[in-house]
Amino acid sequence: MRVRAKIEVELAYRASEGELEKTTSLRCYFCGGRLRRTRTTYYSPLGIIVRDVPAFECEQCGEVYFDAETSRKLDALVKNTAKIMEEEEDRLAAAFRSYEQA
Ligand SMILES: [Zn+2]
Repeated sequence: MRVRAKIEVELAYRASEGELEKTTSLRCYFCGGRLRRTRTTYYSPLGIIVRDVPAFECEQCGEVYFDAETSRKLDALVKNTAKIMEEEEDRLAAAFRSYEQA
């Protein structure tokens, strides 16, 4: 028997307080619009949701960018969370096995 646990994790991502809503001199790669600082919700393919991620958003087309450090942190956070989810799934499978045998 295989147990599939669907776990959705929400993590409050605390980053240094930037100057939110402030326009930067950075330009959008796609349309050339100005980027402003914002916070966004990041949805990873594994169902892990990270809220309040500092980002840059294009004022014209809405494209969202993360800086290199934030991307690296998001990667690590998602990988670590995915690992914990996998371990929990194994524990759940073991729990169901002992339930069947009881
Ligand atoms: Zn744009």
